[in-house]
Amino acid sequence: MAKDSDHDMTKDRAHPMDCVIFDIDGTLAEFDADRLGHLVHGETKKWDDFHDAMAVAPVIEPVARLLSRLKAQGDAIVLCSGRPEGWRHRTLDWLETMGIAHDALYLRRPEEDRDPDPEVKRSALARIRADGYAPWLVVDDRRSVVDFWRAAGLTCLQCAPGDF
Ligand SMILES: [Mg+2]
Repeated sequence: MAKDSDHDMTKDRAHPMDCVIFDIDGTLAEFDADRLGHLVHGETKKWDDFHDAMAVAPVIEPVARLLSRLKAQGDAIVLCSGRPEGWRHRTLDWLETMGIAHDALYLRRPEEDRDPDPEVKRSALARIRADGYAPWLVVDDRRSVVDFWRAAGLTCLQCAPGDF
């Protein structure tokens, strides 16, 4: 192995990096669960249709403003979504279009396709920490996921009712 060839700044960091975790759908992106929930909350998920709809989702401005202020203050911004890894480019396209800065984006892994959202976020949290981030605050909307973050010992600001 060549010297420094696989040097990973994140994992080499002597101290964990303070970060704030933001969910995407219903937190940073307007998400109408009544209209779109059937695409992603059932047994069979229609991810293409979902991403087509969310490609034009407006930004939830107060949350995006909070994110950009935290970023400007020096916090790392970690996005964490139940959207699948296989469609990562669609999510990155939306984030770029909307100008949402972030340091990392954690998504649903292929083997987690049938897992409920709280389990997907539990798995992501382990990876976030293993990568050297120290989350001190989470912003999310879905009640079941908010309950998970809090059970995991994190302070979670719930930005919408999220009863779906
Ligand atoms: Mg959400």
